[in-house]
Amino acid sequence: MPDIKCSVTECHYNRNVMCDASMIQVARDAQLSNAKNSDQTKCETFKPKS
Ligand code: SF4
Repeated sequence: MPDIKCSVTECHYNRNVMCDASMIQVARDAQLSNAKNSDQTKCETFKPKS
């Protein structure tokens, strides 16, 4: 997987402001059928640190 910088340090998969998951899934906001900008997308692989 390519390097993915991610500032969501409260995610279980975050290591030193990088994503350490083997894959991630990204989707548009559930309310939308077309995203117009990055704010309307989200990482669905996010899992809170336990
Ligand atoms: S799974 Fe998503 S939110 Fe979590 S570190 Fe990776 S890119 Fe960031």
